[in-house]
Amino acid sequence: MSELITGVTRGGESWTPAFINALNQQNCIGCGRCYKVCPREVFELVDREDIDDLDDDDYDDDDEDGFSDDTSMVMSLMNALDCIGCQACSKVCPKKCLSHEPAQAAA
Ligand code: SF4
Ligand code: SF4
Repeated sequence: MSELITGVTRGGESWTPAFINALNQQNCIGCGRCYKVCPREVFELVDREDIDDLDDDDYDDDDEDGFSDDTSMVMSLMNALDCIGCQACSKVCPKKCLSHEPAQAAA
């Protein structure tokens, strides 16, 4: 059985990266925060109307949190396989759109 991909901190502690595996585009407000913090260019903003399974009534557009809600754009995972599992994107996402999980090391 293969083991999980793990890393080591500079101090020698083991840690397990949690790689991005999903982005909830129905909750996404297109704020771009994940895009800005990602060190690996995993994300790309796209026109919401280009997403086949979304329509204009699907997104959560309440703006009680004060964040931009330019609902014409939505974030997408263009290069998910480049993710290093740092989880910086989830720390800044105001809508909790992003999901992560450890990955199995190649056999
Ligand atoms: S976990 Fe890190 S590398 Fe992966 S998508 Fe998020 S910010 Fe980018
Ligand atoms: S930080 Fe969250 S809400 Fe903002 S663009 Fe990224 S996924 Fe969408």
